Amino acid sequence: MQPLVLFNSLGRKKEEFQPLDPANVRMYTCGPTVYSYAHIGNMRAFLFADLLQRTLRFVCRYPVTWVMNITDIDDKTIRGSAPGSPEWRPEMGEQTPDPLENLRRFTRFYEQAFKEDIATLGIELEHIAAFPRATEYIEPMQELVRRIYEREIAYISQGSVYFNVTRWNSIDKYGKLVTIDFEHFRKGVRIDADEYDRESVADFVLWKARKPGEPFWQFSLGGEQCDGRPGWHLECSTMEYVLLGLPFDIHTGGIDLKFPHHEDEIAQSKAGYGVEPTRYWCHNEHLLVEGEKMSKSLGNFYTLRDLLARGIDPMDIRYIMLAAHYRSKLNFTFEALKAARRARRRVQRVFDELAAVNPAEQVTIPAMQQLRDTVFSALLDDLNTPKALGALFTFLRQHPVAAMTPAERAEYKAVLLHLNQVFHLWNPEGESPAAVEIPEEIRQLAEQRWAARQQKDYATADALRERIQQAGFRVIDTPSGYHLEPIEE
Ligand code: AMP
Ligand code: ZN
Repeated sequence: MQPLVLFNSLGRKKEEFQPLDPANVRMYTCGPTVYSYAHIGNMRAFLFADLLQRTLRFVCRYPVTWVMNITDIDDKTIRGSAPGSPEWRPEMGEQTPDPLENLRRFTRFYEQAFKEDIATLGIELEHIAAFPRATEYIEPMQELVRRIYEREIAYISQGSVYFNVTRWNSIDKYGKLVTIDFEHFRKGVRIDADEYDRESVADFVLWKARKPGEPFWQFSLGGEQCDGRPGWHLECSTMEYVLLGLPFDIHTGGIDLKFPHHEDEIAQSKAGYGVEPTRYWCHNEHLLVEGEKMSKSLGNFYTLRDLLARGIDPMDIRYIMLAAHYRSKLNFTFEALKAARRARRRVQRVFDELAAVNPAEQVTIPAMQQLRDTVFSALLDDLNTPKALGALFTFLRQHPVAAMTPAERAEYKAVLLHLNQVFHLWNPEGESPAAVEIPEEIRQLAEQRWAARQQKDYATADALRERIQQAGFRVIDTPSGYHLEPIEE
């Protein structure tokens, strides 16, 4: 089979993926900041990572170690867990006098919700080797700060530790993922915020000095007492080093993380550990609402829970996200959800028809091999899911199950099961027939139609089909009889 090709943000071009160790492909995904329920824009980032790791596992057949961190300390989690915060919920228990304990109760609640949400969207938690929490890696984070400081690439100012960008840029390059305009570099300016734009690049914070009432850890550095807490970028640099070792294979995240988060990760890791974190940086484009990025700050977001409450099937959300190419912007609409539902059901119906079929152990029939190969070769080309799903639908249209021999059905089922390991969008057991309620008179019409067909009275059979359709139901002929289902709008 052809090799996997990925668009690498480092170098900004498609590259053949070559694992450092084919017996263990190591991948890191920047996980959620657990200060509220994640919105479905965030979910796009995690579903993209899931698709990538499933392609590595089930198409390329590499064993994969996938790590996703939990950002449980940053400005937002501290704010949310502070005394009197409107975001504190009764389920978190009572607030205590200890800010660190409050932070723990607050973030554990949203971490749990996050894991439930990704599982609902078909990410299998067993596929994730570890969910490291930043607060549990403070010592190695301090160690990394110390290393950078001892190389004189960091300095202390008022108890905080900053990364000296100008000095680093004279040793290595700062600006590997994005182009930095050093003409406008604000020398001597320090940035304490975790998020800032490219125009305001300056020395960024590695470790933030303690503030009254906030959680902190003791830290002595260069003879000074620098009690405080880690900066966000430092967290990821450390956890990937401890859990995956450097360099590892692939680092994923949303495109907004390229700068400053990932640019700063590269600088820190290279300055402190002497190596860049990863070989392939892969970024997903944004989920939009009416042309704008879905985000908490713009208030234009839906959480998974909002959508489930409206009766939306989470697998339709998964479908929308996977059906668009990960490097294209994707507009979220309820219309698109309906279309996703229709498209997904077309494939589900085939699984339903094949429910009783035992999958073949080998795929030998050329048409079936071709289906599998076309879908997989689209995926191997930088996860081209629109093309992959397009090939599947073309096949579906051209090859009705009813016309297949038993051997073809067995191989068709084997191929569909294999595709579903990657997409994870369909229920291979078939959907439970109890879910569909068919009125008695429709059943009778269908029986009459079937009888007419047996007698080769096709005119009557077609007229009855028409009546059934007008009543909102569809008859599908199967090898063993027929099947009725409601027509969705
Ligand atoms: P956060 O919890 O804010 O750190 O974000 C978690 C992930 O969601 C990151 O990889 C972000 O880049 C990603 N993300 C945030 N908003 C969107 C969006 N509208 N579309 C796609 N990815 C997003
Ligand atoms: Zn990160």
